[in-house]
Amino acid sequence: MKINPDKLQRYRWEFNLIMDSTINAFAMPGGKVAVLSRILSITNDAAGMAFLPGYEVAHSIANHANERLSQFLLAEFCGMVLSEALGKQSETTRQLALAAYGLGAQVGILLPYSRTHESEADRLGLIFMAMAGYNLENAIGFLERMQEIQKGQGPPEFLSTHPAPENRIEDIRKMLPEAMEYYRNE
Ligand SMILES: [Zn+2]
Repeated sequence: MKINPDKLQRYRWEFNLIMDSTINAFAMPGGKVAVLSRILSITNDAAGMAFLPGYEVAHSIANHANERLSQFLLAEFCGMVLSEALGKQSETTRQLALAAYGLGAQVGILLPYSRTHESEADRLGLIFMAMAGYNLENAIGFLERMQEIQKGQGPPEFLSTHPAPENRIEDIRKMLPEAMEYYRNE
């Protein structure tokens, strides 16, 4: 992956919670991230949620970012992503996000991510989570609950755009030591 700092600087990060009964979350190129409210039944609490926004951010930048993603950017994400992410949104931003979601579905932006991108998003999502001081085990808990849903009710919408690699949780466990190097708890 090649980083393109000019392109990243043009991202305008925006986080929206959309009231919707499907289990899904998505990221648009340019920085819009949305979480559909039904997924909150899987995230359970703030710590269970902590993996998701960073993971979506990672997807959003997947084509442009690489391992040299700047500290500045990371710091900015963490503050924003995890504390305020879903706190406030006006009716306008909700409508905007809904429109973006519809558009994305239409033009195929919501096509499934590749296995490589999934893996990258997992890795970066964990790193963002660690930087924000969350216990990384919560990411595993979240993914286990996602698996449970899949067993019980068939794949949630989330997995149509985020196909989970077979050994995802095992793979994530292997990523934990690296992510922990970024752990910060102030
Ligand atoms: Zn994904």
